[in-house]
Amino acid sequence: MTDSRKRACFWPIASADCTLHRLGLALCLVALVTCGKSVESPTVAQLPKVAVAWQRPAVIDFHAHLSLDGVDRVRQIMADNGIELMINLSGGSGRRGGQSWYLAKALSDQLGGKILNFASPDWRDFGEPQWAAREAAALEQAVVQFGFRGVKISKGLGLGHTDERDQLVAVDDIRLDPLWQKAAQLGIAVCIHVADPRAFWWPLTEKNERWDELGVHPYWAYGPVSAEVLATFPPQAQELVNQRTAVPSWPQLLQSAERLYRRNPKTTFVAVHFGNAAEDLAYVDGLLLRNSNLSIDIAARVGEFGRHPADAVKAFFEKWQDRIVFGTDIGIGGDYLMLGSNGEIEPELKDVKPFYDAHWQYLQTAARQIAHPSPIQGRWKVDAIGLSAAVLDKLYRRNALRLLDRAVLVERANKAPPAQAMPSTPPPADPTPAWALPPAAKSTPPGH
Ligand SMILES: [Zn+2]
Repeated sequence: MTDSRKRACFWPIASADCTLHRLGLALCLVALVTCGKSVESPTVAQLPKVAVAWQRPAVIDFHAHLSLDGVDRVRQIMADNGIELMINLSGGSGRRGGQSWYLAKALSDQLGGKILNFASPDWRDFGEPQWAAREAAALEQAVVQFGFRGVKISKGLGLGHTDERDQLVAVDDIRLDPLWQKAAQLGIAVCIHVADPRAFWWPLTEKNERWDELGVHPYWAYGPVSAEVLATFPPQAQELVNQRTAVPSWPQLLQSAERLYRRNPKTTFVAVHFGNAAEDLAYVDGLLLRNSNLSIDIAARVGEFGRHPADAVKAFFEKWQDRIVFGTDIGIGGDYLMLGSNGEIEPELKDVKPFYDAHWQYLQTAARQIAHPSPIQGRWKVDAIGLSAAVLDKLYRRNALRLLDRAVLVERANKAPPAQAMPSTPPPADPTPAWALPPAAKSTPPGH
């Protein structure tokens, strides 16, 4: 091995020059091969402060939204960022003859199977007697005929989908049980998004910590909005805000989700966005403790759980090292990109690598006060947690592989204990911040 090859192995990822960076990566791989070490999977160059003895394995991004017209960009983004496999949670439902399933399968086929698709129910006619049987059969078709590997439930469950009486469908609605049972029988996981960031229930004002996001999409907010603030939005946005209907509170939605996990112990759930409660580390800890059929992903929440003390977050990742998967909530289409969330200005391709790099930096280094991957989700900095190589290996790929392995999930379902009622557990903290309470109530302790 020449000296120049040795140096190339440790090319810092912070290099702004992509061409040089790729060259460094290529030389690194050549050097490893010529050293006689086996290279099982593509790697990417190291971040500063990462132990040079460890190479990040090829990563599985468990939370992506992809469309066929973006196939070339997906291929490029995966290659540039060392992503071996992406889970496309936007495989869609069986409506229109399964049109979206054909497109999702074509995307996977064109990328040599490096995309695995998840299917979603078709919510039309929910509440009609045949709905559950129809959707359970559709799910089986998606798995058997189209090679789908899981179910994705969007936040529309609990916040938007309605039944035959025009009532919101609860997250733990018993009429959905045949779907969860079918998922367990097929040995596939259910990725479920419940609720939204807690601040979306707070008053919609410039004081709201998610104002950068909600100010652009005010109709995402569920909290009260004054006429004064409303008047500052474009007419179309005002109309959408006025069309909002009442939804359950943040704690109510989370409690409903837990009743669902408990009643279906044979079904493996992945509660996306850090258990849908990145704001409350202790709550997610209890949730994982109480529900052995539950895993979580970290998609689009690094900024949120990164606000907790780094030591506490690191301890959490170590404690739950077998139950957390890496995901980003990246969205890629032919002319569409989303990096965790979107604001007024759509990101460009050049923004994707810094987005992934911000994840590596947070998870792998001990850096202090760094930008989190989606700054539009909050104007604060986070302290990185420097996980060990063993924990990172599980987070980046091993846990995902287990969740995608049908035999493993079927075996888990067969061993699952019978369903239990939910024990009385403390609800998540009161979602209303002190600044939003009327003056007399400002001294009310949290949790009441
Ligand atoms: Zn998503």
